[in-house]
Amino acid sequence: AKFVYDFTEGNKDLKDLLGGKGANLAEMTNLGLPVPPGFTITTEACKVYLDSGDEPVALRDEVTAHLEALEQKMGKKLGQPDNPLLVSVRSGAKFSMPGMMDTVLNIGLSDKSVKGLADQAGDERFAWDSYRRLIQMFGKTVLGVDGDLFEDALEKAKAAKKVAVDTDLDAADLKKLVTRFKKIVKTEAGRDFPQDPREQMDLAIRAVFDSWNGDRAKLYRRQERIPHDLGTAVNICSMVFGNLGPDSGTGVAFTRDPASGHQGVYGDYLQNAQGEDVVAGIRNTVPLAELEQIDKNSYDQLMQIMETLENHYKDLCDIEFTIERGQLWMLQTRVGKRTAGAAFRIATQLVDQGLIDEAEALQRVTGAQLAQLMFPRFDDEAKTELLGRGIAASPGAAVGKAVFDSYTAIKWSRSGEKVILIRRETNPDDLDGMIAAEGILTSRGGKTSHAAVVARGMGKTCVCGAEDLVVDTKRRRLTAGDVVVEEGDVVSIDGSSGKVYLGEVPVVPSPVVEYFEGRMHAGADDADELVAAVHRVMAYADRVRRLRVRANADNAEDALRARRFGAQGIGLCRTEHMFLGDRREMVERLILADTDAEREESLTSLLPLQKQDFVELFEAMDGLPVTIRLLDPPLHEFLPDITELSVRVALAEAREDANENDLRLLQAVHRLHEQNPMLGLRGVRLGLAIPGLFAMQVRAIAEAAAERKNAKGDPRAEIMIPLVGTVQELEIVREEADQIIAEIEARTGTHLKLAIGTMIELPRAALTAGQIAEAAEFFSFGTNDLTQTVWGFSRDDVEASFFTAYLEKGIFGVSPFETIDKDGVGSLVKSAAAAGRATRPDLKLGVCGEHGGDPESVHFFHEAGLDYVSCSPFRIPVARLEAGRAAS
Ligand code: PEP
Ligand code: MG
Repeated sequence: AKFVYDFTEGNKDLKDLLGGKGANLAEMTNLGLPVPPGFTITTEACKVYLDSGDEPVALRDEVTAHLEALEQKMGKKLGQPDNPLLVSVRSGAKFSMPGMMDTVLNIGLSDKSVKGLADQAGDERFAWDSYRRLIQMFGKTVLGVDGDLFEDALEKAKAAKKVAVDTDLDAADLKKLVTRFKKIVKTEAGRDFPQDPREQMDLAIRAVFDSWNGDRAKLYRRQERIPHDLGTAVNICSMVFGNLGPDSGTGVAFTRDPASGHQGVYGDYLQNAQGEDVVAGIRNTVPLAELEQIDKNSYDQLMQIMETLENHYKDLCDIEFTIERGQLWMLQTRVGKRTAGAAFRIATQLVDQGLIDEAEALQRVTGAQLAQLMFPRFDDEAKTELLGRGIAASPGAAVGKAVFDSYTAIKWSRSGEKVILIRRETNPDDLDGMIAAEGILTSRGGKTSHAAVVARGMGKTCVCGAEDLVVDTKRRRLTAGDVVVEEGDVVSIDGSSGKVYLGEVPVVPSPVVEYFEGRMHAGADDADELVAAVHRVMAYADRVRRLRVRANADNAEDALRARRFGAQGIGLCRTEHMFLGDRREMVERLILADTDAEREESLTSLLPLQKQDFVELFEAMDGLPVTIRLLDPPLHEFLPDITELSVRVALAEAREDANENDLRLLQAVHRLHEQNPMLGLRGVRLGLAIPGLFAMQVRAIAEAAAERKNAKGDPRAEIMIPLVGTVQELEIVREEADQIIAEIEARTGTHLKLAIGTMIELPRAALTAGQIAEAAEFFSFGTNDLTQTVWGFSRDDVEASFFTAYLEKGIFGVSPFETIDKDGVGSLVKSAAAAGRATRPDLKLGVCGEHGGDPESVHFFHEAGLDYVSCSPFRIPVARLEAGRAAS
């Protein structure tokens, strides 16, 4: 194998081998752009090193050959005392990865060559500053010396001279600092700073290889599901200097505005500085446009290059560049990050420019970006007072009074106050408070902390890990610098940006939602430009997608909204939601019924109400399929809480005025109490155990459909049986349902064409799908229960209990209730789909668990060959978009 590639030998498609940075440096080199010469050591070499603990035998000679070629090209040798070639050594994996070694600059400097550099540059201070930077970076990243020791020494040197900034240290000061730094290396690393330039380079290469297996890098890969065996490439690049005087400098630029997508000059420039100075914020950068005055030649050349890059990559690029004494050098480029709104705008702008086609435009946006655009947000125009910044853990804009404990959160929210729950970090005791709050703010913890995981599960706005904020729960206050927020003061948190504000920031509705709701049409201003772009991209997606998208909706209002959002039917109407409120008592009577007559009576009173529900739903979804699921949840959900009722009855008994009904109720509650209600009397089991219940629901559906038909409507009902585990269950329910439907068809003179199907949400159902399909006209995968039963995870408890530990240990990168577990649950879905279709080729297949609206899961369902996904109304645009992306 070949382990080293000159920049002239690679290209942008070799990211697997050369890493992202190396591949793009090669691409720019071959485009004829001014890239400082260099070469890349491949990920293959890294893999050999990681597997065997040693570099591949051939590597040393290959590096030598490429280094010699580089020296020839540059006309100087690495570390040559009178005129040294200096290089940077940078890591560069296929995916950019925090936690890996970044860069060592100025390799090749030594006690001897520092003088040569001073002569060549005509600048002694510059040379010694470069040398001290090398020892500092090398000591820290290659030799593992605590970086603070160098920083402390630098601070001391400044303090001794009574100056504030590094640039006020002169050559003599820096010389002393170099001596000090070398001592630190010697004491801490137990060896001298290497004076041999080749040894410096080899050690740095090894350090990059080793950093692949640093703890943070490993954790990041587990969480992002990046394979551990990819390895990293190493880029060796000849140094150019932006800190050689006023005719030098360094900067970053975007080929168009990453916030709006508009074309123009976007970037920052810092005169007489190196890249790391920009990051350190030592001096203020100037807008890139000012470079035109500073150095017109370089500016013009840069503009030209940016245009070349955009046309070549056909996308927004970001770049890093350096100007060394009037000569422009390109140090890096990559396809640039952008805001969600800009992603949509740029995709359509590039289509208009003829750079990409519609299919490619779909790949330039994501469902997650669309979801982000659909949250309400804070008004950009509003005056705000920023308190601090944390991690954007769960999107949205929340405003409320600061509270510092769950108890207060609950108490205040019950009295109608909006509250933000502020904690150092949350734990399961905070759960009720989190439910009561508008949003959650913590000062500790990252994206996998309890607060973040639970808030995302609840769809609640959350900012976590806002480390500048000091949370004092004892004194019920939060301090940010010298601002103190007391309990009851209003704060606003932005879960999409991580920003925390003092006071109430006005919230504006999302223009994208306004558009989907039909309240806004494309025009000319900024929001309209975004809406127009979203409109076009959605049209591309709808044109190509194979998956249909339905809604989970239980009433006409949700159904109508879903329809506006593009739903092509209802995939799940949960009828239990129709049995709450003032109907709960009727259900209670049904459960309490001792005699057939009593039971009949309560069912008879429910029938017309249930029928009316369906009439409204069919009307709202006229012409589109509506899947109605018969009653699913355990009955105790319709009964009073066992503890509360026990106390009430005990107190009444003590007063000797216990009422007959309460006593019966308590008996029923005891009788129906289950240790594991989710595995108990629910779903089809209810239909089989309580005579007449499912029959009443089927009757209501059939009568409602007949009524709509006679009113010239086009009802398309589908009856769905939940929690089936075996075909026998389904057969019994079906037989009864068929009879009822036939009777109503005969009576009303209609032909209803009601399909009867089942949910597949138990492993046994999935494993016997071939048999079940004999009695089912459709399957709808209930991936919520299927995930629960395949993993043995209680869907209501685990996110708040041990998922944080699982996520932190990288057992999975995201909750399997959020994104489908392809290998486990997903493989059951695939095999059940295949078995079902083998029995019944025209079997309709859908999914109605929460996964139906999750981007990654939608791709999986597309590949699994399902006919539709069904999700909450708000997620429909996301599902449409992702279905389009999956198909294009
Ligand atoms: C499911 O289990 O995936 C499902 C859609 O049903 P529910 O969430 O109502 O149990
Ligand atoms: Mg279910």
